[in-house]
Amino acid sequence: MYITTTGLVLRETLYKESSKLLTVLTADLGKVSVLAKGARRRGSKTAASTQLLACSEMTLFEGKNGFTLTESRCIELFEGLRTDLALLSLGSYFAEVLETVSQEDSHDPELLSLGLNSLYALSEGKRPGKLVKAAFEMRCACLSGFLPAAECCAVCGRPDIREPRLDLNEGLLYCGGCRKGTGTEAELCDASLMALRHVIGAEPKKIFSFTLTGAGEARFSKACEEYLLTQLDRGFRTLDFYKSII
Ligand SMILES: [Zn+2]
Repeated sequence: MYITTTGLVLRETLYKESSKLLTVLTADLGKVSVLAKGARRRGSKTAASTQLLACSEMTLFEGKNGFTLTESRCIELFEGLRTDLALLSLGSYFAEVLETVSQEDSHDPELLSLGLNSLYALSEGKRPGKLVKAAFEMRCACLSGFLPAAECCAVCGRPDIREPRLDLNEGLLYCGGCRKGTGTEAELCDASLMALRHVIGAEPKKIFSFTLTGAGEARFSKACEEYLLTQLDRGFRTLDFYKSII
């Protein structure tokens, strides 16, 4: 059976002499493993679209042993990422996160769309990479079922929270007076809380439409990263690498 779908390459592994095994996030099939026969052969028509972080329209043949790539047409290669080591390593981190939170046999166009919009924003360079990273992390957490309750303090119910804290385990907000001091809280402020509320509530195309600088940006970035890692209960080697070079 042949299937044509949009796919983003999240991982490429060399296979035999001239082929690759890909992990691809698709619009219609969720995460799939795909054999790209001869993709490393000189002059191969699938060479560009089988690179890490390439987005293509792929025609896949589903056989007894899984999917094989039969044809592909590049849609976006995110060229801006391929000439900048910091951006490429951040894009690789996005790919590792997407691979972790995506499922096989699931129709999840929203996750693919978040991945593509985030890589595009990074590649275009119009938004600060730190903010794209933070917004991507928080939306990934939301799409994975960990939407934080950011409307008001979880204890007193006040929406205008003084000295807000996000509890990284519970996904709840506490004001300075109600905080529990568990040590698993990320410190926020008015500006970073506003950014958090924007990112979790915005339409997919508008998640990066906010500005934040200085201490607010630092708090927001820290909270989003720590929240995703705490909720997923793991770290990422691509994130460690990114941090080692910036
Ligand atoms: Zn309170």
